[in-house]
Amino acid sequence: MNERMYLEILNEANSFGAKVIAVSKTKPVEAIQAFYDKGQRLFGENKVQELCDKAAILPKDIEWHLIGHLQSNKVKYIAPFVSLIHAVDSEKLLEEINKQAIKNKRVIPCLLQIHIAKEETKFGFSEEEVLDMLSTISFQSFSNIEIHGLMGMATNTDNEDQVEQEFETLHKLFLSIKNNFFSNSPYFKELSMGMSSDYKLALKHGATMIRVGSILFGER
Ligand SMILES: *Cc1c(COP(=O)(O)O)cnc(C)c1O
Repeated sequence: MNERMYLEILNEANSFGAKVIAVSKTKPVEAIQAFYDKGQRLFGENKVQELCDKAAILPKDIEWHLIGHLQSNKVKYIAPFVSLIHAVDSEKLLEEINKQAIKNKRVIPCLLQIHIAKEETKFGFSEEEVLDMLSTISFQSFSNIEIHGLMGMATNTDNEDQVEQEFETLHKLFLSIKNNFFSNSPYFKELSMGMSSDYKLALKHGATMIRVGSILFGER
């Protein structure tokens, strides 16, 4: 583990009041345990199977975040214990998460994934799609889901101006959605953005959670 870098990132995130999600995908449980022993409790994985395998072995007070794309048919495996689902990108997925949350007699916190990068990807709502969904659905019908905020990924580029613009776009959308749809919700306060290469820019533009992997665990 890169302990010096870990402490530096923790300090930096702390100074913005943001949380650090240690992204441990593809890394062995021993590597996760090493960060746990330094006090880290928030870990992110992008695959359901891997998340479940690791959660079964590692200490029970770890808060597991699913940060990758989630298929509806896999919600049932993480529903009993997941702390936060970052990448909710459809109404159908919300329905399934709600159903599984009810079965498990718990409330599952979720973030809505917004597609901000210029890159082609299948995942995430466009601004128009998310506003459309929020104006048509009634969150009262999702009794066992709490929407905690938004998540996004910037374009993978060296062009910092572009990355900053994308983060700022998401930040503005976050504020506007909070105002227009969640002004009465005590939960809607998280903006999950920023990875190893761009977390500093994300913090500058309002991230409340950064998801950093390779800079802590080494290259995958
Ligand atoms: C892998 C991953 C990260 C972390 O990426 P690093 O570049 O290793 O910091 C963050 N968010 C998501 C959604 C990921 O899949």
